[in-house]
Amino acid sequence: MVQPLPWHQTIWQQLQSRRQQLPHAILLHGMTGIGKAHFSEALAASLLCEAPHSTNGACGHCQACNWLSQGNHPDFRRILPPADMPSEDAEPAKRSGLWIGIEAIRDLTDFVQLTSHRSGVKVVLIPSAEKLNQAAANALLKTLEEPPAGVIFILVCQQLGRVLPTIRSRCQKISLPAPARGEALAWLADQRLSGHEMLLDLSGGMPLLTAQYANDEVLASLPTVLEWFSAPRKDPVQVAQDWSKLPLSTLHDWLGKWLYDLLRLSVGGQIKYYPDKSDALQNLAGRTDSVALMECMTALQQDKRLLSHPLNQKLMLENWLFSYRGLWQKRAVPVSS
Ligand SMILES: [Zn+2]
Repeated sequence: MVQPLPWHQTIWQQLQSRRQQLPHAILLHGMTGIGKAHFSEALAASLLCEAPHSTNGACGHCQACNWLSQGNHPDFRRILPPADMPSEDAEPAKRSGLWIGIEAIRDLTDFVQLTSHRSGVKVVLIPSAEKLNQAAANALLKTLEEPPAGVIFILVCQQLGRVLPTIRSRCQKISLPAPARGEALAWLADQRLSGHEMLLDLSGGMPLLTAQYANDEVLASLPTVLEWFSAPRKDPVQVAQDWSKLPLSTLHDWLGKWLYDLLRLSVGGQIKYYPDKSDALQNLAGRTDSVALMECMTALQQDKRLLSHPLNQKLMLENWLFSYRGLWQKRAVPVSS
């Protein structure tokens, strides 16, 4: 059975110690890549398990645990946007939907009203609560306002601000912290992913994101990309051509973090994502200003919503690269590495 990660043990134990008195709705929140999915799935399993361990949660062997692992526990519902559903569960026309629509919440009505099949609790897990569209959020709110007995809602989100305030106010909010660096490195070593300090930095200290990066073959291109970021001399049109095989979302992520580090340096802060590129970052930050960096970063952020369906990937990338290089060219200072 999936277990909460080591740095969430304290919160886990606190919740397990009051399993019988849990509120009807819990909202787990924390940054990407810290283990919210582990925690929420383990919590759901421990609530449904018929022989739960007092500290470890679900037993992994009972009928309920078996059903859950096979994806057919009758007292469990997981609400996902169509795009995140296993393909056989979503109607073909709806598979691209990024939002949870009202139908998904309406479909819950019978589920929450009926008695549970196993005379225990029923659990509704919403792993991306910020993806509820307005109508779905309002429908869910109605249910949370008059909570049906014996149902526990587990909502998960990255940013509390993106969940309707009225929904937030009806949930017990639990903040899941990021691990200390030592804890993250120890966990990575356990996953046979030692030696990835640089990736841990790039992931902002988030170990699950680090593991994802470490298994991504795109990573082999990172040094070349950082080389150009460090000394953006080569023509952006040519660079965009060279990088045309790399996922645009990855380049967006890498450039966004690079700009963030430059901005931090330019206002006297510390590097977060690329500490081993300190020299290049210091050099660049010293020759531009925070306002220009902020503008470049804002423009890049605005393009984020277009990443899933860009009209012209190469053109968008060229645009970013020209804006980035322009940070130094405007000042007519020759760029040196
Ligand atoms: Zn069990």
